[in-house]
Amino acid sequence: MDSQEAATSIERIAGLIAESRRLVFFTGAGISTESGIADFRGTGGLWTRYDPEDFTIDKFLNSAESRRKQWHIFKEGLMTGKAQPNAAHLAIAELHRMGRLDCVITQNVDDLHQKAGVPEDKVFELHGNMKRAVCLGCRRRYPFEEIKTRLDAGEVIPACPNCGGTLKPDVVMFGEQLPYRVLEEAGRRSRAADLFIVIGSTLVVYPAAYMPAYAVESGARLVIINLGETPMDREATVLVSARAGETMTAIVDKVKGKRDI
Ligand code: ZN
Repeated sequence: MDSQEAATSIERIAGLIAESRRLVFFTGAGISTESGIADFRGTGGLWTRYDPEDFTIDKFLNSAESRRKQWHIFKEGLMTGKAQPNAAHLAIAELHRMGRLDCVITQNVDDLHQKAGVPEDKVFELHGNMKRAVCLGCRRRYPFEEIKTRLDAGEVIPACPNCGGTLKPDVVMFGEQLPYRVLEEAGRRSRAADLFIVIGSTLVVYPAAYMPAYAVESGARLVIINLGETPMDREATVLVSARAGETMTAIVDKVKGKRDI
């Protein structure tokens, strides 16, 4: 897209945000690549170095070797490392501070929306979060640091200190159900949205990708900011093929300008 076209799109999106009463963002891997997190499926991504077949919930439950590998990845921070929020995460957090944000629904497990300043109760993590481990027995959750300390001290497959049950990184593995309550609330918020902005998702992973469909069915305007095509491009009121960081920064600057008039 040329710069004139980009400027027009940014202006239109800022106008939609300024009019919106229920603004929902939906984010995928593409928003975090600018923070240095390779799309798991893309070049240099996790699944080019590891076999996804080793990361099914069945293998995790039934194979000590699979559990060992998963905990190794968790310990080394290979999924997210020390990534920091980028301009796109910060722009969304700024919209929250301006009182403009209903919520963020994310496919990412990297905690970057929260690190940017969006409160925990406004982030719906469809695929979990690497900052926690969960016990499959008592469902108690433990912070990453606590488990990492144990792994660094030599434990290979940590057990739950409360009940002795199996601990699992609190991310949705292949073949595993999405967290029901999160999914349900994300669906409700999507249907209630009047403006639904997709950033950095190819909208091909279900059931996450139902969210924009729910929003459109319920009458929301749809905006897609993504490098590459999605199956919902034709439904979009505004479609932007550009990097998320600079695009979102420009949009939020415009929204601020409108408020000051
Ligand atoms: Zn337990």
